[in-house]
Amino acid sequence: MIGKFSGKFDGAASSFRNGGNGADVEAVMDEGDRAASLAGGRLTIDLDAVVANLRHVEAATAPARVAAVVKADAYGLGAGPVAAALAGAGCRDFFVADLAEALDLRPHVGGQASIHVLHGLWPGTESLAEEAGVTPVLNSLAQVRAWAELARKRRRRLPAVLQLDSGMSRLGLSDDDVAALAAEPQGLEALDVNYVMSHLASADQAGEDVNAAQRASFERLAGLLPARPRTLANSAAALGDPLTHGDLVRAGLALYGVAPGPGPSAGLRPVVSLSARVIQVRTLPAGTGVGYGLTYTTRGTERIATVGVGYADGWPRALSNRGAAWFGGVRLPIVGQVSMDSMMVDVSALAPEALGAGDAVELIGPHQSVADVAALAGTIPYEILTRLGRRYARRYVGGASAQGMRA
Ligand SMILES: *Cc1c(COP(=O)(O)O)cnc(C)c1O
Repeated sequence: MIGKFSGKFDGAASSFRNGGNGADVEAVMDEGDRAASLAGGRLTIDLDAVVANLRHVEAATAPARVAAVVKADAYGLGAGPVAAALAGAGCRDFFVADLAEALDLRPHVGGQASIHVLHGLWPGTESLAEEAGVTPVLNSLAQVRAWAELARKRRRRLPAVLQLDSGMSRLGLSDDDVAALAAEPQGLEALDVNYVMSHLASADQAGEDVNAAQRASFERLAGLLPARPRTLANSAAALGDPLTHGDLVRAGLALYGVAPGPGPSAGLRPVVSLSARVIQVRTLPAGTGVGYGLTYTTRGTERIATVGVGYADGWPRALSNRGAAWFGGVRLPIVGQVSMDSMMVDVSALAPEALGAGDAVELIGPHQSVADVAALAGTIPYEILTRLGRRYARRYVGGASAQGMRA
């Protein structure tokens, strides 16, 4: 007996009530259904929305090309299915953080796609990168020299991106490094430099002087080197500052449906929905403590539901006594501390029979966006996405062409 929950999840957490009869459900369940019926939290990732967001960024930045940044497992959403959907939609440029991510990504995007490795290569891993056909972003003279040396050894030009530090002080060639390269142009002869690149420190603060300063510094440094296509913009710059577009924009967050920076979601489609199932509901008299440390005390008679998602699932503990879940458009405040595997929500605003064990409440969905959750938790949407838990039952919807790619 699977219980009250039917296992059919349509992505809009607030709209599904189980109507199922457990025995029937059990008979037709496949593996995915089974996981969905047993897990305390369910995560749905809409691959059609990812592709729609790619089109949105393309329209906003044409004629620049759009690369998909799929580092950190596509911001926690699953680099395999996400990148396959994007490749199926025509995306040919991908960025990951390191070579390990690049090797994992290759089977999902096909042999023709360019996989760029933002961190460049650890010393000694150049041959592995060459065999895998990846394109390192070269951040230091040492990385440039090691990659060029391998190119000479192999007697063929190797693809590369040159990153210039235009003012963020994180990665890339310094002024002195660029001057040194400019003084020995033969140092780059063995390489196909597809792009010169830099990254903005404050892209989400449009109109900041630092953005203009970084653009100027990027132009100045790039001007010292042989002319190559340019890439500077992340999602925020792509959607907020046309002066940064160059030849290729590198979009992450926007593809995953979150508006970069403040303001409305700018035509992006939400990609992620998350729901948590009710474990039990209790009615408590006034003055009753709730949860670890008894940090919440009921003010009157209250009905409190315990739901099966906690901080071990990446749901922020900072939402203790602060955040909310939603059901049928009704806000259900989180009361007490968020625990490892569960948390309590006040469901007094609902009719007593409206919500019971096995039902699901919305954590991320039509009533509460990733950005809302991040703002309440005092963090950024990137952190909410990249921490989405491994314990959730995951379901991918859409992305039909991606299925074809994988087959
Ligand atoms: C992560 C990253 C991006 C993507 O940033 P978003 O804000 O998610 O679009 C682009 N470029 C670099 C260098 C990055 O590290």
